[in-house]
Amino acid sequence: MTGTGHTELIDTFGRVHTDLRISVTDRCNFRCAYCMPEEGLDWLDRADILTFEEIERVVSVLVNQAGLKSVRLTGGEPTVRAKLPNLVERISSQRTPAGEALDLSMTTNGATLPLLADDLFAAGLRRMNISLDTLNAERFLELTKRDELEKVLVGIDAAVAAGFSPVKVNAVLMNGINHDEIVDFLRMGREKNVTVRFIEFMPLDAQGEWSDQRVVSHATILEAASSAFEFDPIERGSSPAERFVYRDGDDEPGSEFGVIASVSEPFCGSCDRMRLTADGQLRNCLFALGHVDLMPVLRGGGSDEDLVAAVAGEVHKKWAGHEIGKVHFIRPSKSMSQLGG
Ligand code: SAM
Ligand code: SF4
Repeated sequence: MTGTGHTELIDTFGRVHTDLRISVTDRCNFRCAYCMPEEGLDWLDRADILTFEEIERVVSVLVNQAGLKSVRLTGGEPTVRAKLPNLVERISSQRTPAGEALDLSMTTNGATLPLLADDLFAAGLRRMNISLDTLNAERFLELTKRDELEKVLVGIDAAVAAGFSPVKVNAVLMNGINHDEIVDFLRMGREKNVTVRFIEFMPLDAQGEWSDQRVVSHATILEAASSAFEFDPIERGSSPAERFVYRDGDDEPGSEFGVIASVSEPFCGSCDRMRLTADGQLRNCLFALGHVDLMPVLRGGGSDEDLVAAVAGEVHKKWAGHEIGKVHFIRPSKSMSQLGG
């Protein structure tokens, strides 16, 4: 505890945690090969999933008592959770003790945005990341097991039209699958005025098919990008994304792109993230092998102080960083869709 009665969510490496990723459901309307098996995943029972009231309580307590500044809604696919705008409304109005608005964002596959973008914006959401890994309809079907590329492209336009800014489109690049679409993605970003970010493939796929041969390194991405465009790096700050701006660009989101090299250049040293699964497990890292279950506190009459203590205790245990590629790396037993990417 500090003198102000607030708890800092700090680990033994001095990293202060101010960002919470909340998985609002483990379910999804897609079946991305690198994330979920086509069949056979056991869904959580509805009764075991955090209610909107419980999510709101976790956020409000951590914002008011533990320095939480940003929240990202994710999943599974967050937009398949019924009445999602109601949850957004509950969270978006929260303020930090210093009176600042909570930085609220969402990661979605985009397919339901043609229907939902306006409602989400009206509920107070302003920032959106849309995941899209190919611009080729056949590949899209192969990768997601759904013939819905067009819906996602319309969804991106719907998000921009609704007023979201910046809209970011995140593409996971995989050698032999979509490594040849780097320039196409950059063109699309400029055309639609969205920030494209390339993300390295991580060993969190449900099938366990990840190999380092599949990872497209950030050097390869920049080489491909410079074959078509001239750009300069932007000061990085604490962002995990390496950012670049086109020389002939302006201040618009489409004038920028990014690379998130979580495997080849991990940003663990400045990580400020925690994750909450749909069933209330708080994890201190995407690759953490343990967690603290918040359900007993939330449903067993625990106080707000108990909640903060449980979260702070788990954060305190955080390791230095993931060790992908090392012999002693152990894959977490949950896939990205269950952890909330
Ligand atoms: N369904 C939403 C979506 O697709 O944006 C949110 C959840 S999804 C698990 C969050 C992010 O994780 C997506 O951008 C997805 O591409 C990414 N992801 C899933 N599996 C991954 C993996 N093995 N390596 C890297 N990123 C992955
Ligand atoms: Fe669903 Fe997102 Fe996983 Fe694809 S990446 S299966 S859209 S949760």
